[in-house]
Amino acid sequence: MCHNIKPHRFRVNLKNFIIYYYCEMSEIRELKKPIREKASIHSHIKGLGLDSNGKAKFIADGLVGQAEAREAAGVVVQLIKQGKMSGKGILFVGPPGTGKTALAVAIARELGEDTPFTAINASEIYSTELKKTEILTQLIRKSIGVRIREKRLVYEGVVKDRKIKVARSRLNPYSQAPVEAQITLTTKDDERTLSVGEEIAQQLVSLGVKKGDVIMIDAQTGQVIVEGKAKGFEGAKTYDIETTKVLEMPTGPVRKEKEITTTLTLNDLDLNLAARNLAVTAIFSFFTEREINEDVRKEVDRLVKDWINQGRAELVVGVLFIDDAHTLDLEAFSFLTRALESELAPILILATNRGLTKIRGTDIESPHGIPLDLLDRLLIIPTRPYNADEIKEIIKIRADELEIELDPQALEELTKIGVENSLRYSVQLLEPSLIIAQRNNRSIIKVEDVVIASKLFSDVKRSVKFVKEYENLLLK
Ligand code: ATP
Repeated sequence: MCHNIKPHRFRVNLKNFIIYYYCEMSEIRELKKPIREKASIHSHIKGLGLDSNGKAKFIADGLVGQAEAREAAGVVVQLIKQGKMSGKGILFVGPPGTGKTALAVAIARELGEDTPFTAINASEIYSTELKKTEILTQLIRKSIGVRIREKRLVYEGVVKDRKIKVARSRLNPYSQAPVEAQITLTTKDDERTLSVGEEIAQQLVSLGVKKGDVIMIDAQTGQVIVEGKAKGFEGAKTYDIETTKVLEMPTGPVRKEKEITTTLTLNDLDLNLAARNLAVTAIFSFFTEREINEDVRKEVDRLVKDWINQGRAELVVGVLFIDDAHTLDLEAFSFLTRALESELAPILILATNRGLTKIRGTDIESPHGIPLDLLDRLLIIPTRPYNADEIKEIIKIRADELEIELDPQALEELTKIGVENSLRYSVQLLEPSLIIAQRNNRSIIKVEDVVIASKLFSDVKRSVKFVKEYENLLLK
């Protein structure tokens, strides 16, 4: 069946995607790369912003202030690089919105652009039908990467023009992502326009591919590779709306063989192998229920070991970040403590804003609601609330990242809101304020837009007060 699928077939629809995917599984060197994360609330963070002596610059790498915590995180990065963090973890302690998640992201960025980073809120491990330990195992395996080197056939060229998407009707109804894109690649002697399917279109958007970038598209998997760029961390910026014509695939000089390095996580490999063991018809249900058999994991570990021995792959220790760690229970804590001790452990970073509190499901009080045996293994880094100057700079960075223009008075107003309420709240008001500005035919946010947005959307303090006032009505 696999030979029916032309290697240069980029127009991926669900049906042939699954079959293609399945075919790829039949050989271990054919690995499917998942789509990279889109611009997130932390996409502006590129690193810890430290100088060569490990001192924090006020603004650097997308981070502002929080100097001591950043410097402590810098020491941690050095310990990790020297292999001295095994068996240990990190705990960020500080009020909400003080950058705990941001710092964990920065640590991962410092460790290398392909370092896996998994972030969850502790409550998520209780929210599905899977067992807690299964979810934790998957999270751990999502946070360990395998860097694989392979020879691949690629289409390579400089991006001359990028047109992402046609009409609204061609946007994915759920994600609003483009389902098709065009990209014109040129080399010295050739110029071809590629019409690509949904998966690649999404990758082009999430990679923020722009004119002048050198890109390659893997001829077999369709993975987009942008040279010299922090893959997946650049936000999607422009959408040129254009009508799409189906055009030729490039041939000749644009197509060549190249050594490609791909980093997949152990969990990606587990999913690949688990799918290979299924009949094609079972693959549909496989993508919804995701409990992975232990034998599959053992087989993946064995394969990875072989690749490492053959010099084709190496391990990349990633970061597993768990926010609101005080909501984990004893079973989860002891699982994580054991995981820290195992040979193949990610860097565990926990965060909490609680002081002395009961360990979930018990009457035992413990600092930060974390059992002492785990606490003993954690390096604790406090994060403190931001002052007005810091808040202003963070808002500016976020506005820049979202390509939002702020009038100086609007920036002042958002800063004031940040000081009086929370950084999170003021950052969250950016996009609603833009909508309000656009309704008034402006692309620049003015102070009145911010005032309206802050009236429409409540901050936490106000919403609590509101519930209190109407307690009798709301709780009946
Ligand atoms: P919570 O306890 O509510 O989870 P948190 O301490 O993890 O909050 P973040 O989510 O990291 O806080 O911060 C809120 C927002 O502010 C995010 O968009 C984050 O990237 C940004 N941010 C926080 N601190 C900084 C900083 N020092 N420099 C730049 N951006 C920051």
